[in-house]
Amino acid sequence: MKTRRNFIKLSALGSVGLVANSALAGNNDLNNDLYKNQKKITKPIIISTWNHGMAANEAAWKILSNNGTALDAVEAGVRVTESDPNNTSVGLGGLPDRDGFVTLDACIMDQHNNCGSVAFLQDIENPISVARKVMEDTNHVMLVGEGAQQFAFEKGFKKTNLLTKESKKDWEIWKQKSKYQPFINSENHDTIGMLALDEKGNLSGACTTSGMAYKLHGRVGDSPIVGAGLFVDNEIGAACATGVGEAVIRISGSAIVVELMRNGMSPNDACKEAVNRIIKKHKSLKNLQVGFIALNKNGETGGYSVYSGFNYASHTHDYNKMIDAKFYRKE
Ligand code: ASP
Repeated sequence: MKTRRNFIKLSALGSVGLVANSALAGNNDLNNDLYKNQKKITKPIIISTWNHGMAANEAAWKILSNNGTALDAVEAGVRVTESDPNNTSVGLGGLPDRDGFVTLDACIMDQHNNCGSVAFLQDIENPISVARKVMEDTNHVMLVGEGAQQFAFEKGFKKTNLLTKESKKDWEIWKQKSKYQPFINSENHDTIGMLALDEKGNLSGACTTSGMAYKLHGRVGDSPIVGAGLFVDNEIGAACATGVGEAVIRISGSAIVVELMRNGMSPNDACKEAVNRIIKKHKSLKNLQVGFIALNKNGETGGYSVYSGFNYASHTHDYNKMIDAKFYRKE
């Protein structure tokens, strides 16, 4: 395993390269060059974070394998996780904040750089679909709190109590000590982020979460923030994040992963470099799990996390399977 010092060195080199190449970033010739030697494009393909991605991928695959769009696929996929009451980190059944409220964050982005987002949304089972409505039916990108909820009701979404008996019980136990100690891993998995490349070669992504359990009331993480929890550039690729959202926001994580791919990195290397930046910016890595996944225009995928234990589900014509992401440190 590489030492932290090496990571920092590599990270610094990566930054220099990024600056040097960023002037070219909008150059379509460069972007075309990146992909002109491609051997074979794997499409359609879907990837999504954590084990809950398997079921979500199945729903998304039904759409993609019938020539559907990546956008429809990612929305349908993550809705499965949002509506699963047994999943305590997304949508219905999500663990509440410190004061007992389940507050949801989600965003969606398509191949035209259209995006929609909701944050601090309560009592709505499928925030991703509200985010899509924000994208398609308003001139805005992001709605939050009561305004987002009012908009959802206007669009016909139903009021739903998201705090299940089980999550309420967990919160009541937590309240006895009230210690905010985020720890994210495969047994305590979080956000679903999903990226898809459709038959036409278009990319879209979706990201949705109930956020960190027992967070302060009002806290919003990276997941609804375009560029942090999710980013899609149809010329290059897409990326999304899971883990401690504050750390992801600090480096504009998903946008950085896409920029690194634009500058020639593979999805795996780009995710690794983004994680390196997080490592470099934090004095302590205690409980600082962050994972990125990425998908480029060739249908190549990658993932990398601070700690071991992060995995993602990948669905192609040949399989739907879990892939263990590479990591910086063994848990
Ligand atoms: N990134 C999300 C947040 O910080 C939660 C997670 O992925 O664990 O709200």
